[in-house]
Order: sequence, then structure tokens, then C-alpha cells
Amino acid sequence: MNVFFIEFRDPLFGIIVFFVLVFVITFFSYWLARFKRKEDHRHLDKFLKQFNTLPSQSELKVLITKGELSEKSWLLLAHSYAKNGNYEKSIEIYNELLKVGDKANYRDTMFLLGKTYFKAGFLERARQIFLEILKNNPRTPQALNYLLLVYEYMRDYPAALEILEPLEELKKDIKTDSAYLKSLILLNDLDMSTDVKVQKLLEIYKQTNQLTYLIFEYIFRVNPKLAWENFDISKAELLVDILWNIDKKDLNFDIIMQNSYLRELYTAKGYIQKADKSSTFELDVLININKSVNATLSFEYICNSCKQVFPFAFNRCSSCHAIDTSRVELSLVKDYHKDFSEENNSFQ
Ligand SMILES: [Zn+2]
Repeated sequence: MNVFFIEFRDPLFGIIVFFVLVFVITFFSYWLARFKRKEDHRHLDKFLKQFNTLPSQSELKVLITKGELSEKSWLLLAHSYAKNGNYEKSIEIYNELLKVGDKANYRDTMFLLGKTYFKAGFLERARQIFLEILKNNPRTPQALNYLLLVYEYMRDYPAALEILEPLEELKKDIKTDSAYLKSLILLNDLDMSTDVKVQKLLEIYKQTNQLTYLIFEYIFRVNPKLAWENFDISKAELLVDILWNIDKKDLNFDIIMQNSYLRELYTAKGYIQKADKSSTFELDVLININKSVNATLSFEYICNSCKQVFPFAFNRCSSCHAIDTSRVELSLVKDYHKDFSEENNSFQ
């Protein structure tokens, strides 16, 4: 047994103690480094998290009240939130700024809040904000313009029409807005007969020579014969999507034959053979393509004013709110309708 027993004076004892100490120090330094790395990660995660999560309403309240950031910085932040579609945060900032912000900017902040409510679709709240601005400052054209849009989106067209009066007093051009709202009132009148509506719409068209798409989209739908008789064929390109989709039985070939664009359009459609080329690329391809190829036209709508592209037709641009600025862009696509009807025929 004494063989295994080492006395503390033995030099071997000192060596063993040395190695034990080395082991303990290495072990602790390893765990310390590991712990520190974990802490660093946690700290970094926490730091990055504050950029991913948005401040809550109460946090915002504290931050704005503290006044560490200038009012302009908060306005810029609210604007960028709204631009990214986070209207809720933008509205919270504007509301807090209205409570504690500089009274000199009160009206501007109110206007921005109203605009954000409008964009977010809270039309009633937007209406109240713009009315509040106009109560104290009736000659604010920006607020009047937005109030008109709010009423239009609420489909309260007579109220929107009333807004044009003060705008006219402020020397704003209201001709297009007036014709547009009057046309919308007619189109949405459930008690008026179709014939009277068509006549009144044609009167507006003849007076203004505007709103071609809005008016003729309706007339081509309810009375194609009258539409062809009153349609200014020099504006055919504006209505190319409507003209392309009209039933063959509703076409007026006497009028079509008078205009080269219409001849090219309906030759491309395959209804007539009266053109062998076109200056419009898409029509030229369709005229000269092998008829067994399933190709047709597809349409996109560009606002001439702000250049925004929409997949659907519009009369007032939802981006810049300009009226009658839509331009139709053509493109060639596969004709799925033809594919579908051929498949159905093959089962018969
Ligand atoms: Zn636009």
C-alpha cells in the first residue's frame, strides 16, 4: 500500500499539483471564454432586435415626450413608416406630436395625419381631420383637395362636388374634376334610365372633350351602336382594350373601315383582312403571325402624369390622383381562352 502513497515532500507530489493546477486553469479559462462569447452574442442579438421590433405606443409616447429627437426627425420617421406601408406607427407618431409638438406646426402635422388616414383607408377619420383644418383655415387648398378625394372614395359624389366651389374661389382649375364627378353621379344613379344616362354622358363628353375612357367604356357596354356613332375615332388608341373585347356582332365596320388604326386592330383580331402591316409592333406581329399560333393582346395602364403602371384600367390615378391620365400599353401573351375553348370542343 505504501507504494501508492506519496508524501507531500516527495518531488512527484509537486509535479502532480502543478498539472492539476494547469488543468484547473485551462478548464476555467475555457469556460470563461465560452461564457463571454455567449454574452457577446446575447448582447448583439438584443442590439439588433431593437431595429427589428417597432417601439410600442407607450414607448413612442415616452420617446417623443423626452424630446431627445427634434420634431422634424419624428416627422421624417413617420413619413418613412407611411411610405413602407406601416400606417399604424405613422399615425401614432403624428398623434403624439399633436399632443406635445410645436403649436406652429400643428396644422401641417394635422394635414399629414389626415393624409395618412386617407392612405390607410380610414376615410371617416380623414374626413374629420380635414374638416377640422378647414374649420380654422378655410382657405387651405391641399386640405380641400384631400377632402374632395375622401368624399369621392366614400362615394358621396354630391358632397365632393360641393368642395369644388371653394376651390374655384381659390382660382383652381376645376373643369376636369367637375365633369368627372358629374359623370360619376350619373353612372351611380340607380333611378335614371340607361338611355337618359347615355345622353347626359354624351353631353358632358361634347362639352369637355375629356373622360373618353370613363364615358365610352359605359356606352360601349350598354349601347354599342350609339357609342360607335358618337365616338371620336381619332381617340381609338385610348380605348384599345375596350375595342379589342367588343363582340363581333356589335362592331360597326363602316366606321372601322374609315380609320387605319381600327382596320389594323380588327385585322389583328382576325375579324377582317384589311391590313397587311401596322406601325404598332404588337398589332404588326398579330397581323403577320401564323393564325394557328395562340397569341393575343394583354393590357397594362400607365399614368401619364406619374408614370405608375397598373394592371387595371383607371379614371383617377390612385397614386397621384390625376384624372383622365391613363394610357393603355399593349403586350403579346398566350391566348388561354382559345386554348380552353379548343380543349372543350375536342371533348364534344
Ligand atoms: Zn398618376
